[in-house]
Amino acid sequence: MTRFFVSPDQISQGTATLAEGDAHHLRVVLKAQPGEKVSVLDGSGREWPGALLELGKNRALVKLGAPALPPTEPRTQITVAQALPKVADKMEQVLQHGTEVGAAGFWAYQSARSLTHLTHERHDKRLLRWQAIVKTASEQSHRARLPAVRADGTFADVLRAASAFDLAMLAHTAPSPALRTLLSSSRPLSVLVIVGPESGFSDAEGEQARRMGVQWVSLGPRILRTETAALVLLAQALYTLESP
Ligand code: SAH
Repeated sequence: MTRFFVSPDQISQGTATLAEGDAHHLRVVLKAQPGEKVSVLDGSGREWPGALLELGKNRALVKLGAPALPPTEPRTQITVAQALPKVADKMEQVLQHGTEVGAAGFWAYQSARSLTHLTHERHDKRLLRWQAIVKTASEQSHRARLPAVRADGTFADVLRAASAFDLAMLAHTAPSPALRTLLSSSRPLSVLVIVGPESGFSDAEGEQARRMGVQWVSLGPRILRTETAALVLLAQALYTLESP
């Protein structure tokens, strides 16, 4: 069954109005007809079974049944702070695959060694594209919560936000404890993981993070590409924390 995320204001009185792009996808790609079963999610964890009432050129109306809470969301909310990679495609890989694996949110930040900058002109366009990638990946992977995406700020801003999480970690290639060691004594519900750019973190950044209470973590003896590190951490952390 095709799944669509909508914003809460698109749901009213037992009916959802899908966005223009979703109506187009149903009509042109899926060749759907009224009566077809679809499922609607508002990004907060709820899912409504529904049937297409009306399918026009620019909009689709869905009659909704009773909402349910699908069991596909992890209990642990992991936010990935990813240093902006040089190639835009790498950030998109992190967003797409990180959503599939179970990230709660993404924060693309500018690190001192980031080889690229997000100019103001490009920022809004990028953010819309990144949100669209997360939405499609969430629909495909049966997520019930839509991961949040932000793209602003620097490494210092990320460090300042770290204290709001139960556990904040810096994925570091310098000698650091393994993830299972950090997780053996705590069961955090909210986790921040900070991943460095292609050239890694400077010693000064590592020390700055440590002073702010951010724990260094190793993902193993091999050096991973920046776009691989977050995925490995997400998989290791969710496996450890979500196993019954
Ligand atoms: N030459 C750089 C390589 C950076 S790899 C260096 O030595 O640091 C890019 C980012 O991926 C790193 O900053 C780190 O956040 C993460 N990373 C890659 N491999 C890792 C590993 N084995 N353990 C922890 N983090 C890793």
